[in-house]
Amino acid sequence: MAECLFCKIRDGEVSADIIFENDECLAFRDINPKAPVHFLVIPRRHIANLWDTKTSDEGLLGRIQLMIPKIAKDQGLDSGFRTVLNTGPGGHQEVYHMHYHVLGGGPFTGFN
Ligand code: 5GP
Ligand code: ZN
Repeated sequence: MAECLFCKIRDGEVSADIIFENDECLAFRDINPKAPVHFLVIPRRHIANLWDTKTSDEGLLGRIQLMIPKIAKDQGLDSGFRTVLNTGPGGHQEVYHMHYHVLGGGPFTGFN
């Protein structure tokens, strides 16, 4: 059993509003949205954060980033969006399974 919250979401052990998935990434709505549209995009494989990435992950990271504008478009973010990736305590990372935040669709609240 995975200990990591986002691995549990990936494995269906914790429910989430999943909006996109493919063989290497998953996108689901943030439980505490800071914008009218706020979702997270995670690699399926457990990677803690950017400190935990290797040169061999460059293809995976690139493909995930290339998916983000497609998912954002599906979510109606036609005028643009913000992408945030927190790493470590200094980046205010709370969940140690790497995730891109994608926000848009109106005002942002309490997003530091
Ligand atoms: P971080 O600070 O690690 O970059 O962001 C973690 C994000 O995960 C926060 O925006 C928080 O609201 C979200 N989050 C925490 N727990 C859950 C959960 O159980 N389900 C979902 N969908 N999002 C969560
Ligand atoms: Zn994980």
